[in-house]
Amino acid sequence: QLDPSTLKAFENAAAGHDGVLSDSTGELLVKPCTDAEADFYQQTLQDHPDFAELMPTFMGTLHLGTSAQVAESTVVQDFVHTSQVQRNQRSHGGKIATETAIVLENLEHGFSKPNVLDLKLGTTLYADGTAPEKAQRLDKVASETTSGSLGFRITGMKVWNGESFDKYDKLYGRGFNAETVKDGFATFFSGLSVALKQDEAAELLETIEAEIAKARNALERLESRMYSASLLIVYEGDNAALRTLVGGVYKTPRLQEKAPTRSEVQQSEDEEDEEDEDEPPTAYRVKMIDFAHAAWTPGQGKDENTITGLKNIEKQIDMLIARLTA
Ligand code: ADP
Ligand code: MN
Repeated sequence: QLDPSTLKAFENAAAGHDGVLSDSTGELLVKPCTDAEADFYQQTLQDHPDFAELMPTFMGTLHLGTSAQVAESTVVQDFVHTSQVQRNQRSHGGKIATETAIVLENLEHGFSKPNVLDLKLGTTLYADGTAPEKAQRLDKVASETTSGSLGFRITGMKVWNGESFDKYDKLYGRGFNAETVKDGFATFFSGLSVALKQDEAAELLETIEAEIAKARNALERLESRMYSASLLIVYEGDNAALRTLVGGVYKTPRLQEKAPTRSEVQQSEDEEDEEDEDEPPTAYRVKMIDFAHAAWTPGQGKDENTITGLKNIEKQIDMLIARLTA
């Protein structure tokens, strides 16, 4: 059971607004958001459960401003009071004005030193109906950055350097063009070549790329519009931990020589049950986040704007793999 008095500011974000909270275990995030984002999570669970797999696990919605606690679960209700107190205490800028928050799985949880890359998707970064001044401002940023040329840009990243995290803010990513942005990817993934053999690093990048392709393939067959959603890539930044994860202990069973016997299968299923559905430690995670301007839009066809960005990110990773295996 969660103790709401232990909610604290989440200080490990790669980008975005202030005001995100985390629980004491670090498993959950409470993110203030627009009603549209809360609705999108809710609706995706109902109507597109396959796509929900490509998003952080959604635990429920909080309505912070009112005494009415419209929550999805009792766990979530515990957050309401504390979140409200913290919101009132911290009133500096950079937070969005909202009464709503969502409770999400923290994608950094389980890593020793999570390296995080936030890639904002889309050439057009706003939905129809956005105020003209804001639309113009976003078009200008897009035209000056890889948002315009490639349909994505680096909006933030943090990379463990062995002693602390190197942080890269939104201006870092705005400084790249279509040719130079590969340097940003090289910087983010530099830990792989330090910790791993070249073929292992290449294999991990292929796995990450396949995960991105999965999201793109889902969007190719669905009808949605997502403006300024992000792809969040996390991988283990602690060299020793990464080597362990990739090197053996958690190697997938497909590499075992003989098929497991039925009793072995039963045993491992029992163990999984006992583990309370905790995911096993992993070297990486890839998810789509930030659905403030996202909607399922039946009849409108696929979201080329977002798909283009994902395709071009896959190409960047292809180039990194090519360099590793050259
Ligand atoms: P904003 O509207 O403020 O940009 P985002 O959803 O993009 O909101 O979140 C901002 C930052 O918080 C992201 O760049 C990411 O680093 C972090 N973040 C958001 N959701 C999660 C999550 N589920 N797990 C881990 N980190 C997250
Ligand atoms: Mn964001």
